[in-house]
Amino acid sequence: MIELLKDLIQSAPTLNNGELRAAEVLADFFRQHGIPAELDTWNGNRANVTASVGPDNSDAATLLFGAHLDVVPATKDHWKADPFCPVEEDGKIIGRGSVDMLGGLCAAAAAMVDLSRQQLNGRIIFAATAGEETDSCGVQRFVEQYRSRIKNPIGTIITEPTGMKILRAHRGILWLKVETKGKTAHGSMPHLGVNAVLKMNAFLNRLEHWEIPHTPHPLLGGCSISPNRITGGSATNIIPDSCCLEIDIRTLPKQNHREIIENLKALCESIQNEDPDFKTQISIIRAVDAMETPADSPFVKAVCKAAGIHETQAAGFTTDGPHFQKLKAPVLILGPGDGTRCHKPDESIEISAVEQARQTYQTIAANVL
Ligand SMILES: [Zn+2]
Repeated sequence: MIELLKDLIQSAPTLNNGELRAAEVLADFFRQHGIPAELDTWNGNRANVTASVGPDNSDAATLLFGAHLDVVPATKDHWKADPFCPVEEDGKIIGRGSVDMLGGLCAAAAAMVDLSRQQLNGRIIFAATAGEETDSCGVQRFVEQYRSRIKNPIGTIITEPTGMKILRAHRGILWLKVETKGKTAHGSMPHLGVNAVLKMNAFLNRLEHWEIPHTPHPLLGGCSISPNRITGGSATNIIPDSCCLEIDIRTLPKQNHREIIENLKALCESIQNEDPDFKTQISIIRAVDAMETPADSPFVKAVCKAAGIHETQAAGFTTDGPHFQKLKAPVLILGPGDGTRCHKPDESIEISAVEQARQTYQTIAANVL
């Protein structure tokens, strides 16, 4: 299992490289252990791997494990060693993707091997998918392809790093781009143009005191909004005709993204009523729904019991969970490693944590099926 983890880190499944090499490594691992694995490839270097154990029957009770193959990029700066040459040190594996989430992926893959040798009352499907860190393209393909092949799903476990806490909710993402439009002119004659940077300033002044109407959630707290990136203008002596602002909104379950955008448009209209030169365009950069699985769901209770954990919590990050929810089964997030190490230099995971996760996944699967 640890060799698999090292091979996957070495395959460097970043957005630039694609996941194909990692997917081939994983598919080979399954096939070497007698587990059928399907490789789905597209756009040259993108890939998902799906493996299953238990009866090959779409009506069978089905437990899913969901993991993402892709990792965020890394340069050698700030790393002690090459981020894609894994180092084993003090009981840890150091390398890009070790904790987010190739460690959890390997634990579930190894649990599949253990489970393939047991008598099961259902089947387990393991989906290792592409693009979670960018646009969730892989999980969307998986759900489309497998929706009709999984008629009786009992639940999905996403193996993101939670320190083996059971998480059942997270906020959603709504990333918006707001562009103010102006009219260019010579920098010495501002009265002949419309300055898009100044229009953005007017927008920001209003946005600072603007709130998205919502009721705070008991586990997740409130929704949040933050303008985090701004670009505008082309030269010191040109009146800018465009200024772009990127806004990070974190939403709660049941909050409607379309409604938030409509509210933001209404804010822009109210500014335009006072200033006819104020013109904006709003577009979506990325949208991921929030997720919540009810605490009293039988699957949650069964997983908690099998794992010997009584309390469920919420995640501070988003996952592919909302896509897996389209299979109409409850989703939980449970995986090895310290989530605060994600996306950082010298990212690492304890080998013992991966071993423990393998054992826990096996126990859960044997108990819930
Ligand atoms: Zn992740």
